Amino acid sequence: MTLTPEQQSEIDAQRASGTTTLRATAPGMEQHLYTAIPVLDHGFIRVIDYMGDDAAITQAARVSYGKGTKAVSNDEGLIRYLMRHWHSTPFEMCEIKLHVKLPVFVARQWIRHRTANVNEYSARYSILDREFYIPAPEHLAAQSVVNNQGRGEALSGEEADRVLRYLRDDAMRAYDHYEEMISDVGQQGLARELARMNLPANIYTQWYWKVDLHNLLHFLRLRADAHAQYEIRVYAEALCEVVRDWVPFAYKAFEDYRMGGATLSSGALECVRRMLKGEEVTQENSGMSKGEWREFMGVIEG
Ligand SMILES: Cc1cc2nc3c(=O)[nH]c(=O)nc-3n(C[C@H](O)[C@H](O)[C@H](O)COP(=O)(O)OP(=O)(O)OC[C@H]3O[C@@H](n4cnc5c(N)ncnc54)[C@H](O)[C@@H]3O)c2cc1C
Repeated sequence: MTLTPEQQSEIDAQRASGTTTLRATAPGMEQHLYTAIPVLDHGFIRVIDYMGDDAAITQAARVSYGKGTKAVSNDEGLIRYLMRHWHSTPFEMCEIKLHVKLPVFVARQWIRHRTANVNEYSARYSILDREFYIPAPEHLAAQSVVNNQGRGEALSGEEADRVLRYLRDDAMRAYDHYEEMISDVGQQGLARELARMNLPANIYTQWYWKVDLHNLLHFLRLRADAHAQYEIRVYAEALCEVVRDWVPFAYKAFEDYRMGGATLSSGALECVRRMLKGEEVTQENSGMSKGEWREFMGVIEG
């Protein structure tokens, strides 16, 4: 279960105690505040706090005294200009603080994004819950034959059953031993900070994660991408929805120029120019390696 009834009632109480403020609020984000968005089998993302909205980006860009906006359409145009020209600091004026529950192996990928502030649940101090990520059968896939860092078709039949059984049994056995080792009934009981080391990487951890919008968009560009591992991608996709509701203009610009856009090398650009002139350009006469050509064709053919 993602949340216990006690945790849910704490969240409900937080949502029920409204306060008034002079600060800018984003209506779309107010809807998300404190609610838990389920991800994977036991995980979630919860918005704990945020600062700023689309107007905060343009205000900072204009170093304005007031709201800094002449018309909403000007705001959108300016945000698109900033995104297009990599003028990124105005996006850093918006911040978000999240509570995330995620498997440890996903956390290891996530923590590589250093430009954020993190506080993780302490397994030295507290006892971890018996909660493990077990992939749904359609996500239990074979090693990819074309990409060393990816997966191919879903496993099937006896192999799928056996793998799922191993994942469940190994996790349960490791947790049983964890519980037994930390128990002080009839023994001294091993320290939590040591007992945790036999737990598998699919156990869930939790953290508070605070980041500014510029670095969040960088995270989303890498982790909501089709090449990112499924288990972190689903968190990034859930976050994309939150960001869309929070700063709709910035998110639209991000979709256009970053997620949906592409960067071409000078050689690739030269090939496009030759193609536009009607020249037949092939990998052999492009000056690109086979891999680069394949990626280039992926970009221009869609
Ligand atoms: C598909 C994919 C596969 C990956 N595979 C691997 C892998 O096999 N092995 C592996 O180790 N990692 C891997 N990574 C992680 C990757 O190398 C980055 O560590 C991760 O994506 C975080 O990116 P970042 O450093 O740009 O982000 P952040 O840490 O948030 O940094 C944002 C930006 O700030 C700047 N910055 C931050 N800290 C510093 C610093 N100390 N010095 C200089 N500039 C800094 C950089 O410009 C950086 O781009 C993979 C990531 C992806 C998306």
